[in-house]
Amino acid sequence: MSQKRDYYEVLGLSKSASEAEIKKAYRKLALKYHPDKNPDDSSAEEKFKEAAEAYEVLSNGDKKARYDQYGHAGMGQGFGGGGMNMDDIFSQFGDIFGGAFGGSFGGSRSRGGERVVKGSNLRVKMKMTLEDIANGVQKKIKVNKLVNADGVTFKSCATCNGTGRITRMAQTFIGAMQTQSACNVCQGAGKMIDKKPSGADQNGLVRKEEVIEIEIPAGVEEGMQLNVRGKGNAGPFNGVPGDLIVVIEEVEHAELKRDGDNVHYEAFVSFMDAVLGESIEIPTLSGKVKIKIDAGTQSGKVLRLRGKGLPNVQGYGSGDLFAHINVWTPTKISKEEKNIIASLKKSENFKPKAVDKDKGFFKQMKDMFS
Ligand SMILES: [Zn+2]
Repeated sequence: MSQKRDYYEVLGLSKSASEAEIKKAYRKLALKYHPDKNPDDSSAEEKFKEAAEAYEVLSNGDKKARYDQYGHAGMGQGFGGGGMNMDDIFSQFGDIFGGAFGGSFGGSRSRGGERVVKGSNLRVKMKMTLEDIANGVQKKIKVNKLVNADGVTFKSCATCNGTGRITRMAQTFIGAMQTQSACNVCQGAGKMIDKKPSGADQNGLVRKEEVIEIEIPAGVEEGMQLNVRGKGNAGPFNGVPGDLIVVIEEVEHAELKRDGDNVHYEAFVSFMDAVLGESIEIPTLSGKVKIKIDAGTQSGKVLRLRGKGLPNVQGYGSGDLFAHINVWTPTKISKEEKNIIASLKKSENFKPKAVDKDKGFFKQMKDMFS
């Protein structure tokens, strides 16, 4: 193997060359040694590749810095002997020659030699109650998706030899150039239908109902999207199937209100219970629980039930349940009740006093979170 030439030397530049100078130098060499202008000239092709490789490195900030410091030894594997292949070089042209090639590069790249066509994604909405969200659920859902028809067979596209691409000459402002575009016979797939069963579409696919079991983790939220890889529509010509995207729709809870991982409940207690104290039952996401209302509880007090909220979807513990206590004032009372209450009016004990501000709602909330 011959000694690798210095990249700056290849482009005929000094180490202080600017980005624009590097681009200009490469452009000049690429045009001079382009294979279409030098048919059957292997030394021109070598120079063409050599220039492309030099440009690939020197036009990239990171690679250039490494090259400047360590030379060829810093470029690692892949830059050793083989250099770039023609596909890489032509795809690089999109950057350097601007729009001259109208995007005919890229878009038709192959992976591992064979073009892979991906199927489209399927979207389904999934309604979930807060209880479902608290526990996480396994659900079976029915989807109507595209699958390979029974008995369909494929063959390689004869027009592009299965590559999905067609190389042709194009006249551009810099002369005749080789361009590549997606094969118009197979639409870039590289494959065609050999045997098409009746009822199949042009890709050999049919719609079929399928039951898919999916697992929704606890703690999901309205609008979240879960990607179930490979469960979407089949890819045409045995390509990769698309994904199934599950969009979460939260069903509003009749009594509990969600706020992130926490839930809130508005509890109404009678005037008597607030004065005398009582245990009341409140709903949680795991059934009803009793909480104690202390004698002398003010309206607006918040009781916190740790861990009774929703599990965090990332696994960071669980939220809490906040029970907001409201003392309920009757709107309709009998004459006797009216008399009893009126008789209490004289009592000093029933005269409102300024509630210690420190015990107010905001202070309580602050205490809870500090
Ligand atoms: Zn083709």
